[in-house]
Amino acid sequence: MELNTPITYLKGVGPARAPLLESKGIQTIEDLLYYFPFRYEDRTNTKPIARLAPGEMATVLAEVRSARAVRFRRSAVRIFQVSVRDGSGTLLCKWFRGDYLAGILKPGQRVAVYGKIEYDNYSGELSVLHPEYEILFGDGDDGEAALHVGRIVPIYEAAGRVTARAFRTLVHRALQLVEVKDDALPEPVRARLGLPPRAVALREAHFPSPETDLRLLNAFRTPAQMRLIFEEFFFLECGLALKRRRARSMEGIAFALNDAAREKIKAILPFKPTPAQKRVLKEIAADMSQPQPMNRMLQGDVGSGKTIVALEAAMIALANGFQVAIMAPTEILATQHYLYCRPMFEKTKHVAVLLTGSVNPGEKARLKRLIASGAAQVVVGTHALIEGDVEFARLGLVIIDEQHRFGVIQRLKLLQKGRTPDVLVLTATPIPRTLALTVYGDLDVSILDEMPPGRRAVETRHFTQEQIEQVYGFLRSQIRAGRQAFIVYPVIDESETRAIKAAQKSYEHLSQVVFPDLRLRLLHGRLAPAEKDAIMRDFKAGRVDILVATTVVEVGVDVPNATVMVIEQAESFGLAQLHQLRGRVGRGPEQSYCLLVTGKLTEAARERIQTLLQTTDGFRIAEADLRLRGPGEFFGTRQSGLPAFRVADLLRDRDVLELARSEAAAYVENPPSPEDLRALVGYIRENWQRRYGLVQVG
Ligand code: ADP
Ligand code: MG
Repeated sequence: MELNTPITYLKGVGPARAPLLESKGIQTIEDLLYYFPFRYEDRTNTKPIARLAPGEMATVLAEVRSARAVRFRRSAVRIFQVSVRDGSGTLLCKWFRGDYLAGILKPGQRVAVYGKIEYDNYSGELSVLHPEYEILFGDGDDGEAALHVGRIVPIYEAAGRVTARAFRTLVHRALQLVEVKDDALPEPVRARLGLPPRAVALREAHFPSPETDLRLLNAFRTPAQMRLIFEEFFFLECGLALKRRRARSMEGIAFALNDAAREKIKAILPFKPTPAQKRVLKEIAADMSQPQPMNRMLQGDVGSGKTIVALEAAMIALANGFQVAIMAPTEILATQHYLYCRPMFEKTKHVAVLLTGSVNPGEKARLKRLIASGAAQVVVGTHALIEGDVEFARLGLVIIDEQHRFGVIQRLKLLQKGRTPDVLVLTATPIPRTLALTVYGDLDVSILDEMPPGRRAVETRHFTQEQIEQVYGFLRSQIRAGRQAFIVYPVIDESETRAIKAAQKSYEHLSQVVFPDLRLRLLHGRLAPAEKDAIMRDFKAGRVDILVATTVVEVGVDVPNATVMVIEQAESFGLAQLHQLRGRVGRGPEQSYCLLVTGKLTEAARERIQTLLQTTDGFRIAEADLRLRGPGEFFGTRQSGLPAFRVADLLRDRDVLELARSEAAAYVENPPSPEDLRALVGYIRENWQRRYGLVQVG
């Protein structure tokens, strides 16, 4: 058998089990060997029954004396009881609904039983509830009986009816049948870090030798586990390093940082940039002046002033005679950017066009001609539109506003399409460094870590649904003071329908019953783009007091006079989303407020609300979010580009990631020989590329 042998060739994997295994991503022997225990139990503590003490975890080797189902009077629950005996005493094993065991555990069998020993008040005997058991001399395979007791035992996540126990047996079989010969982890790296070879690591990670420290095992810090975690990060980071290198080797545009650029930037700046804005512009400008294409992410909390920095970068490209594309995730946002930017481009005499799905075909064709001829120098649109069949005369810079969406794949598509424009990605989600290193490992990062002056932290308050009258009272007082407000409803399960219904109902109630004297409008994703536009414009112009909305307002809306953000059903939003929504207010000189209205709170929801009440620091919120939800959920979608790790855990293994990253960078820069590097590239292509979305490695 080979590592790539289909799993169905393994004894014990038939038509029933194969699909269950596949649901866990296990198709080959190798996949199975990389399906690791999530926990280990020390079952080496075998004791005679007479020496057992209640409360301890122990393994007992004994003989089955009786096995039968028992039903207690007045109770519908049946308990399957097996009495086992060794030379020293009797132990009662009990299973609720354990009738199926009648055909398995029979008097006379030698068994090993593992579990927590308890004192049974009812019978006065020692007992154990739902123990792990293994028939030692019965119809089982004797060679494998010892896998489950009397040793440090791996515990796997079950796959349907494939139990932890079954996994143990299968993995053990696979380890015996397959010889793991290759080790792609470069020998010098392995030797220097003192990591065991792959074959040893795999065996030890599943079936640790007796002397292994259980605490290390459960912390995933044995040499074997470290090696496997390191391996996973190392190849990923090598892939990213190769990708970075490749990107740098392409021919890009070396923009001149000339007086024309400086003049233009001066002309558009409506305010004095903060020191942080100056610093990141410098980083961006320096990168743009290099002959290699720029791949940079500008990261900054909501309201930190990314837009103006991006426009400054745009001015550099324009001053050099190139076109600029600005892409936003939604039409509303694209429109907003367009409205915000157009006056500035007018000042510098550049033609900017807005290309969205709602322009009619004739107009679209006209706009495309303008872009293709170079008559339009700035194109603002959604990701989808610019990715389409739009031809640019001289595209020099692409600005991608991702806010907290992660369109890594879109980024790649665009790069393949254009010649090699510079790319600046704007994101409002502070990404914990560990995740940035993996997901955005091929990007350079600039961080805007300072808010424009005069900002006051948004005050956050929590109300229950019963206290809604207080919320309304507060809204009214703010609006009387001349301010505006948002009331937002969550979009749950990706479908906006329910949120629209809730928003609609509340809108009717609020506008007819609660605030009949105020100007309310309802905004949601199903409205015609022109209508959305008109509503946003009215709100911006102060002609609307309260904007009732689904999460379409989530990103990018800039209305400095809006000082209240009411979030309904705040318990069903994620932390990042709540933080984003809160960032919609606090953009002007007045004190702003975020009112979180919740129903019943789960433990996790309570923690989210607490976090928001405690801090407005986006990085702290992101860290909390990552801790509460885990990396996969943190990014939300599979297309986030977050690799599916098999052993590594981004939260637990940050230190290993840092190590792997520096080792990978050093190795790729300085391989022992060109052949070694080629072999590595080949290995990554074959094994890791698809899983990690490492398009075009090396
Ligand atoms: P972001 O896109 O990072 O969320 P914006 O670029 O939309 O933030 O900026 C938020 C608000 O702050 C805007 O109204 C913008 O005009 C304003 N702003 C940005 N930089 C400054 C600055 N240096 N001084 C004053 N106001 C600023
Ligand atoms: Mg913005």
